[in-house]
Amino acid sequence: MTQAAVFLDRDGVLNALVPNPDTGRLESPRCPGDFLLLDDVLPALDQLQSAGYALILVSNQPNFALGKSSLETLNQIHQKLLTELRCAGIRFARFCYCLHHPKGVIPGYSGLCVCRKPSPWFLLRARDELGLSLAHSWMIGDQPTDIQCGRAAGVRTIRIAAAPMAATAPNAVAGHTAARLADAAKIVLAQRAY
Ligand SMILES: [Mg+2]
Ligand SMILES: [Zn+2]
Repeated sequence: MTQAAVFLDRDGVLNALVPNPDTGRLESPRCPGDFLLLDDVLPALDQLQSAGYALILVSNQPNFALGKSSLETLNQIHQKLLTELRCAGIRFARFCYCLHHPKGVIPGYSGLCVCRKPSPWFLLRARDELGLSLAHSWMIGDQPTDIQCGRAAGVRTIRIAAAPMAATAPNAVAGHTAARLADAAKIVLAQRAY
């Protein structure tokens, strides 16, 4: 049997985005208290895991590079995710975080990197290390860059959005749209071909 993966963006897919009162925009959680899983995420992950998919997180987290957050805070947020997953009996094969940003201010984390989405670098590395079939794998994300990343790697794509989104960037049209992860999991499981 071929090993396939579901690559998952984090913010806006697993956990809720957080309104920033200063900018009026929805952003990544800035502290562990702001990190809250969305409804039915754990059962959806459990279904994918039970179906044999390797679960792999692929997340851009540039706030340290941008001078907006400490590494300790980013790690605390990650630990909160880990705890929630562990309590639900869900095991991820990889947690892939890009901590870089092209316009960052922290030496060593700033400038161009190989791993920031839309680069498919983490997906290709996971394929090589875990022997994955990317043709049977999926990328689920809420941003155009998630879809570009998935398409560049040759996986199938699902955009988490209230309604299908028009193309705002090349190669950013997802194969499917789902309102939330539970619906995305249904699409993955319905299309399972092996
Ligand atoms: Mg996101
Ligand atoms: Zn990177």
